[in-house]
Amino acid sequence: MSHGVVVVGAGQAGFQVAASLREAGWQAPITLIGEEDALPYQRPPLSKAYLAGKTDRDGLWLRPPAYLEEHRIALRRGVRAVAIDRTERRVHLTDGGVCAYDHLVLATGSRNRALPVPGADLSRVHQLRSLDDADALRAGLDGVRAIVVVGAGFIGLEFAAVAAERGHAVTVVEAANRMMARAVSSETAAWFAEAHARAGIEVRCGANVTAIEGVDGRAKAVLLADGTRIPADLVVIGIGVLANDALAKQAGLRASDGIEVDAFLNTDDPAISAIGDCARFPTRFARGLNADDRIRIESVQNAIDQARCLAARLTGRRAAFDAVPWFWSDQGRNKLQIAGLSKPDDESIARGDAAASTVLRFRQGTLCAVETINRPGDHMAARKVLAADIGPTPEEARTENFDFREFARKAP
Ligand code: FAD
Repeated sequence: MSHGVVVVGAGQAGFQVAASLREAGWQAPITLIGEEDALPYQRPPLSKAYLAGKTDRDGLWLRPPAYLEEHRIALRRGVRAVAIDRTERRVHLTDGGVCAYDHLVLATGSRNRALPVPGADLSRVHQLRSLDDADALRAGLDGVRAIVVVGAGFIGLEFAAVAAERGHAVTVVEAANRMMARAVSSETAAWFAEAHARAGIEVRCGANVTAIEGVDGRAKAVLLADGTRIPADLVVIGIGVLANDALAKQAGLRASDGIEVDAFLNTDDPAISAIGDCARFPTRFARGLNADDRIRIESVQNAIDQARCLAARLTGRRAAFDAVPWFWSDQGRNKLQIAGLSKPDDESIARGDAAASTVLRFRQGTLCAVETINRPGDHMAARKVLAADIGPTPEEARTENFDFREFARKAP
């Protein structure tokens, strides 16, 4: 009897692999195990349109509610996978259930890093990862004046922009010396620093939070290492995420800040694959980024692309995962898009003004990433150029009349 595919994690990647398997004609059973109670949903609107009240729950579902039944995808929601028996090929669940598999997909995503300071557990201190978190935050915003956001990464800044638009007084505190320090060039960070300042958001970099002060169990102020006290009626913590790889580790699979997979997204057990935020994979786009040219990427597109690649393999079209990594972040009215991967010391060649900007990033003379703000045409060109690995050189990019879209159009 075929047990089919069992997927742990019913988020972006887990749902997509199930949908792509059916699209590819997979006939055997598919079981999705998701610890959240909600139907599979998109997370990006949680820090943008959903938080701003511009879309409701129905606008978040990855497919209409009837889709799962119509496509014979069994969703077990509100239950957590707690152990994998690799010998018997079974997954054990919190409700005592057991799911047998022929192939197991780990799509367990990531979780927010906790802020290890006194007061982080007070009420009115929020995180933003799940639909429940977003609902709690949305409700918590009513009647609030001063907000402090800890962490100037994508999610913190997206939330700050929405809150400022709603009329809250927002201060963002960041330990690094600039915003989005790990993800973008100093040129792109500086562009957004000005945009956020124009929107009335105060961003303090080089600021280490030592405690959150409370009154009657509620957050009242954020304390910094230099003694500054910033009043806050509500605090949002967005200081990055950690891979959910404990289940894999406990099952003896190789994992270290992410479940290690090969170029085909297989773990060291041929019956188990891992995709999405939780997977650490080799890619030519990570060359020179770190010692082993492997990376873990937290983005919707990566989750979708890996799910499709895996579904293709399971249905007989085996190919290595080779998609260009790309990301977006909407901060207020400004759209940041990034194609490729960069690190802080990669060279930058920037062109832009107060309305839009493009920054080309080079590692050892080779184009490795392109950051665009409000320039979707350059972003699309970047994806094409990076996929084909066709330059330009830094010298070409520096010439006065260099036009990136034109370069991509003429490229072979
Ligand atoms: P997830 O979507 O997180 O799904 C993993 C699921 O697995 C979760 O539901 C989790 O509860 C479940 N799970 C974990 N362990 C178990 C277990 N043992 N048993 C059962 N279930 C389990 N990306 C972008 O590209 N652009 C954006 O603008 C953007 N905005 C974002 C805004 C917010 C607020 C957040 C939180 C994320 C955003 N992201 C964005 C990131 C993007 O949403 C993630 O990269 C993407 O969801 C990853 O998909 P995934 O399936 O790997 O993980």
